[in-house]
Amino acid sequence: MLKRLRNLIDPPAIPARGMSGVSPLLRDDPPAIEQRAALLAGKNISYTLKRSSRRRSIGLRIDDCGLTVTVPWRASEKWLHSVLQDKAHWVVDKLENWRANKPVAPQWVDGQQVFFLGKPLALRVIPSLFDAPPQLQGAQLFVHVGGSDSERVVEQAVTQWYQREAENLFRGRVAYYAPLLNVSPRMVKLSAARTQWGSCTTRGSVRLNWQLIKMPLRLIDYVVVHELAHLAEMNHSAAFWHVVATVCPDYAKRRSELRSWGLEKHTVE
Ligand SMILES: [Zn+2]
Repeated sequence: MLKRLRNLIDPPAIPARGMSGVSPLLRDDPPAIEQRAALLAGKNISYTLKRSSRRRSIGLRIDDCGLTVTVPWRASEKWLHSVLQDKAHWVVDKLENWRANKPVAPQWVDGQQVFFLGKPLALRVIPSLFDAPPQLQGAQLFVHVGGSDSERVVEQAVTQWYQREAENLFRGRVAYYAPLLNVSPRMVKLSAARTQWGSCTTRGSVRLNWQLIKMPLRLIDYVVVHELAHLAEMNHSAAFWHVVATVCPDYAKRRSELRSWGLEKHTVE
């Protein structure tokens, strides 16, 4: 289900090694995270290398932190090199595409426009004696900050407010649509994924990106329905879209509308 900007490469066939050899404790362990650079398709690309003992394959991910390469703990330099060279054009294309579409970061200052359920709100930063949860009044969102009114503090307060609102709203939408689709999710959680609006696992756990709260309800509903429909059809077959259409007949329109909103590069899976 997960169509991210990501590539998984299986390890080359290597002969299994026995338990002999130097105990891992006696070796110098490589660092878990490293900043590196490589020449890919003629371009000098810096990337973050992460080692994970749980990985069996080399994974490449591109997001607003740039390129991250996750490798099994003991992956050889040769294997890493060959995967990077193999995927060089993919990496360079995706990085360029990402940068071209990168949204302008909002400023968390008084008067700034923020979105909520598809409507613009004016952010009002009010220096106060105490911090208080943001309050929505008409088309204004009042943020009372007791101490610092730095952008970071304001961003945090608004983000927490968004997440609370998202949790309440999404819970209600799931409760409404699940019986209509004849499914019962085991768990509904907020996600902060960078590249996905929603996801669903075979075990019935649905995740919805809190940033959806910025978008019109009809688009939130589309994502809710899409993920719930996966509980009936774990694929994107005609049967899946048929399930979606039972409660959301204009899903194709909403889907393309969702793309046009593109706060970041998200996909619904
Ligand atoms: Zn899907």
